[in-house]
Amino acid sequence: MRHLAVLSMHTSPLVQPGSGDSGGMTVYVREIVCSLARAGGQATVFTRRTDDRTPEVVEVEPGFRVVQVDSGHHDLPKERLPEVVDEFADRTSSHLVDDDFDGLLANYWLSGQAGHRLKHELDLPLITVFHTLARVKAETGDFEPQRRMDAEAEVIRCSDVILANSGEEVRQLVHHYGAVESRIEIVPPGVDHSLFSPGFQDDARDALGIGPGELLLFVGRIQPLKGVDVAIRTLVELDRPDARLAVVGGASGVDGPAEELRVRRLVAELGLTDRVLFVPPQPHGQLATWYRASDVVVMPSRSESFGLVALEAAACGVPVVAASVGGLRTLVRHGRTGYLVEGRRPADYAAHVSSLLDDFAGATEMAICAAEHAWSYTWATTAARLHRVCDDISLRTLVDCS
Ligand code: UDP
Repeated sequence: MRHLAVLSMHTSPLVQPGSGDSGGMTVYVREIVCSLARAGGQATVFTRRTDDRTPEVVEVEPGFRVVQVDSGHHDLPKERLPEVVDEFADRTSSHLVDDDFDGLLANYWLSGQAGHRLKHELDLPLITVFHTLARVKAETGDFEPQRRMDAEAEVIRCSDVILANSGEEVRQLVHHYGAVESRIEIVPPGVDHSLFSPGFQDDARDALGIGPGELLLFVGRIQPLKGVDVAIRTLVELDRPDARLAVVGGASGVDGPAEELRVRRLVAELGLTDRVLFVPPQPHGQLATWYRASDVVVMPSRSESFGLVALEAAACGVPVVAASVGGLRTLVRHGRTGYLVEGRRPADYAAHVSSLLDDFAGATEMAICAAEHAWSYTWATTAARLHRVCDDISLRTLVDCS
């Protein structure tokens, strides 16, 4: 495949991840396109314009271009984006006919809907990657509108290939949506090892101006699903007055601002103001320093399709204590690179965190194992697998849902 059109309607690869609508998917799109381009491929990312300042077309590097498509108000909230999917698809279509594209890679259900239309209009193969699935989120109490579930089911029926992060996601696609298994390819994301690599904790702490004492780290968008409150309560259960928790990231989604307020209040109520540090979203170079500065990363998500944060922490040689959900079950090797926790009891998280803090030799061994394990994931491999999928697809008859 020579030129791939990557649809990323609701998040631009040019934006800083860690708050708002920008998280793992933003990183995924940026890194996968970067790696495709570096391997000699060409990809153009189509994203919805959200400001006046950025030019319509940004050449990020040879083979990697971003086109900002006007569709709806710049500050349209994510919940209203379904209203402008058609406009986004129409305007993207006018770019696609002008150039020689030979496939579509749609990210998330909104771009999936746009991609589904464009596939039929332009007779192009459609590869879809969902990042999260509404019926999976609903299992743990995070409900999405019915129209999203219906749209996902429709896009799944007509995608020529669906990319899954892990075997767990394959099972979810088949179980919840009746996806045809032979059309699913497991293509795990990667991690940038040139940034996320082990380093000296003391140096990292000096760089960040953090003093001695045990440091727990939470990284991610602040929204109920991510369980920042569980991380905070874990600190209480630890019963170590010197231990601190850094929360790196910002509010995200409709519930984000209320959730941030709630966790800040919780910190005040629990008398932890001096021990919980809120840090705004950080670029990857700086984030790596936060990982290196910490003793353990806590990831108590209710659901997680992959969990890039767990992989980045591992690549920096930091054990992760994570919820036993979704992709985290693949990423974290229980007892070897970190611990998987069933349920959401802070005491269970604290027990594992304590065992790491109490056993320096054991934690060091785990850190080494985590860093080694993380080398199974590189963006170059992800891009190579995607490349193969693109080549295969160009030889197949397209799925027809009519
Ligand atoms: N992230 C970041 N800066 C921050 C917080 C998060 O760049 O301050 C990035 C983080 O490095 C990771 C992504 O946001 O690559 C979060 O991905 P993950 O899969 O863990 O969660 P998602 O956002 O997809 O729910």
